[in-house]
Amino acid sequence: MRLHDFTFDQLKTRLIADGVKEAHTLTIWNALHRRASTDLSAHDHFLPPIQRWLAEHAPEMDLPPITALIESSDGLTRKMLLRLEDGQEIETVVMGYPGRYTACVSTQAGCAMGCVFCATGQMGFVRHLRPGEIVAQVLAGQRLLRSDGESGLRNLVLMGMGEPLHNYESVMTALEIISDVRGISLGPSKISISTVGVVPGILRLAEEQRPYNLAVSLHAASDEERSALVPANRRWPLADLIAACRTYNEKTSRRIFFEWTLIAGKNDSTDTARRVAALLAGLDAHVNLIPLNPTNGFDGQPTALPAADEFQLILQEAGFPCTIRQRRGIDVAAGCGQLRAEKRAR
Ligand code: SF4
Repeated sequence: MRLHDFTFDQLKTRLIADGVKEAHTLTIWNALHRRASTDLSAHDHFLPPIQRWLAEHAPEMDLPPITALIESSDGLTRKMLLRLEDGQEIETVVMGYPGRYTACVSTQAGCAMGCVFCATGQMGFVRHLRPGEIVAQVLAGQRLLRSDGESGLRNLVLMGMGEPLHNYESVMTALEIISDVRGISLGPSKISISTVGVVPGILRLAEEQRPYNLAVSLHAASDEERSALVPANRRWPLADLIAACRTYNEKTSRRIFFEWTLIAGKNDSTDTARRVAALLAGLDAHVNLIPLNPTNGFDGQPTALPAADEFQLILQEAGFPCTIRQRRGIDVAAGCGQLRAEKRAR
């Protein structure tokens, strides 16, 4: 374990074991999560025992190095490739919106879910990320913003490489650390977990009353169509998924966001929109429509705006809030896994 893997209480236990006073935990937690600096001169003003402990453990505080960084032509989206200790490379994206920034982080190296339109899915699963490797991405995003004279990471989405609910324990620990008001302090309502539909994970979120937003990637309204795009649907078919969403709605009283990647000619007809409305009937749901981000390994094209508008209107008329999400940073390979795939192909 490295220091960013620890929750506040775990850090306290570790410090006590190292002979450091319990009362110093908050200062050290701040050094780890607010300053995120391994520059020892930044710790000059701390009491000597704290300085000594931080100096001794400085290598355990390092953030993963950035091996590639690209920026969209409008300057609003920045995508980093971070190299982990074992050489695995993961992607983190920082997206700018007026007055606020959102970080999109990875939860696994590669992904086992194999969605056909996704560059990470085409890569296969490598390993789960540790909590600290998820936390470090947020800190790297904050550091990047600070170095550009900007601040204000306001939102976090777990929508990068990997399926967050396939790495449940690490993700929940990471979110506990990230939302801790003594450190990074991103409020749970500003954090969204995106899943391809891992039913046991959705039920566990409901059972444990986790306070984060939940987004479910739907993409198709029948099992046959969905299994062709999202192979995980064979394991957790639509009937089970929708039943789990209903349970989630009931137990948490939280709205679910359904993500629908619009692929021209494949899942963007008005008939499909009506079937989506029927499928989601009775759920507290918001539908986000996202025109496809083309990847090299998938020959689909994004739906043109007029067809997307029609799709949206049908869902709205059925009573669902529905938005067409802008594709951010299309020119920076912003679909998850695309930067890593492109770097490898060079
Ligand atoms: S879309 Fe998400 S769940 Fe599907 S393969 Fe890509 S990373 Fe995995």
